Amino acid sequence: MLYRSTRGNCSNVSAAEAIKRGLAADGGLFVPEKTVHFDNEHIQKMSEMTYQERALKILEGYLDDYTISELTDCVNQAYTAQKFGTEAIAPLHKLYDSVNVLELWHGPTSAFKDMALQILPHFLVKALKKTGEKEEIVILVATSGDTGKAALEGFRDVEGTKIIVFYPSEGVSQVQKMQMVTQEGSNVYSIAVNGNFDDAQNGVKRIFSDEDVAALLQDNGYKFSSANSINWGRLVPQIVYYFSAYADMLKNKEIEVGEKVNFVVPTGNFGNILAAYYAMQMGLPVNRLVCASNDNNVLTDFVNTGVYDKNREFKKTLSPSMDILISSNLERLLYLVTEGNSEQVAGWMNKLKNEGTYAVDQETKKKIQNVFWAGYSNDSDTLKTIESVYSETGYVLDTHTAVAVDVYDKYVISTSDVTKAVIVSTASPFKFNESVVKAIAGEGAVNGKTEFELLSVLSEKSGLTIPAPLKELDKKPVLHKEICEPTHMIEKVKEALNI
Ligand SMILES: *Cc1c(COP(=O)(O)O)cnc(C)c1O
Repeated sequence: MLYRSTRGNCSNVSAAEAIKRGLAADGGLFVPEKTVHFDNEHIQKMSEMTYQERALKILEGYLDDYTISELTDCVNQAYTAQKFGTEAIAPLHKLYDSVNVLELWHGPTSAFKDMALQILPHFLVKALKKTGEKEEIVILVATSGDTGKAALEGFRDVEGTKIIVFYPSEGVSQVQKMQMVTQEGSNVYSIAVNGNFDDAQNGVKRIFSDEDVAALLQDNGYKFSSANSINWGRLVPQIVYYFSAYADMLKNKEIEVGEKVNFVVPTGNFGNILAAYYAMQMGLPVNRLVCASNDNNVLTDFVNTGVYDKNREFKKTLSPSMDILISSNLERLLYLVTEGNSEQVAGWMNKLKNEGTYAVDQETKKKIQNVFWAGYSNDSDTLKTIESVYSETGYVLDTHTAVAVDVYDKYVISTSDVTKAVIVSTASPFKFNESVVKAIAGEGAVNGKTEFELLSVLSEKSGLTIPAPLKELDKKPVLHKEICEPTHMIEKVKEALNI
């Protein structure tokens, strides 16, 4: 299996090469040249398998330059019951008769990024060996919260790697900040930047493109890489849980073999829902994919009109991990629905870069609408959804998942489609506890309390146990105290690497 660029201007590479490079040289994203197919019989067999076995089946088709024993090793190191607190890894929770919630937040950082970032480091280390790299890899990340912590946990103590994460000193929540400063591991550095997320991100971009730094790194046996969500090595493990959810529904006798289901996905960068689209292309019986956004509803407008327009106000919402105006992974969908018309895709992406907007043709729009339905939820509807689902069922949603549930309600009202549905849940309610407690216990329950005090409030109110990694967070020793100006990020990298 070879991988080509969505923009069509560079030569095809192996999976290991695609994972090592992240982005193609022409600025495009790597896509597999073929689709791996699963028929109903294969899918039915998955219902008897463990999550790890299901993962192996999906991965071996796409990462065919890795040996089975290498992939087994990756899967077994990433998806352990110890790290995920459950044998199921990605368990289903039955919410209503025909609606399940797929919980993707049992990993070490309590959000869905763990599903990919627990395994990517292992893919990457093996990719380096396979492609003859001798350097030690240095992962640089600028984060507004979830990704940085998930990357730190994923790369922690992974041989042959170091990871340096920069986060805005005042731009993350209390829980997120404590997660970052208490990070354990012999190869991890987390550094606050005196500024906002853009300052941190621009600083990281500057370091990546600084030739002197690259040369200095090379002289010292290091090489930069990134772990961002356009890497194929992050996308492919996300396909697994769609098959896994379906297999679990078969196992629970909730659906017949071949019966179609809907998936509802809270969306930001379009990575998670794109994995669902790949699963569908691969033969998973899917009826519709519901794309749920918050007030940053660029994707809602795009699916409904065919016009992508990021020239709009950026809004800070209660579902911050979806506060995004450029959904990078959409480029892969455009490539797929135009049947690999890379010239057209490159044209749209250039327009996006230069004008902030592009419009797809009618045929492309229709093809997208045949599969996707899109809607959005504002903060007030999101909170109401948390409250109503809690009072009806006792189940507690986080804000991101609540966006999905609210948009799903709108979908059912608008289409009357009652096909069985899976709501993809991307964060533990404990991670965004302030909004959640406000929704289920009222403003008064939140006033004057820190996020750490609210963990126990939420636990008492809901009867849920606080996820172990969050529980003692405020009592853990602070290991990373460094703070720097945006202009000094390069010096911090050099210090960390001793060069
Ligand atoms: C990253 C994230 C999302 C958005 O996922 P995409 O793959 O970027 O669409 C949704 N919810 C949470 C909690 C996240 O961390």
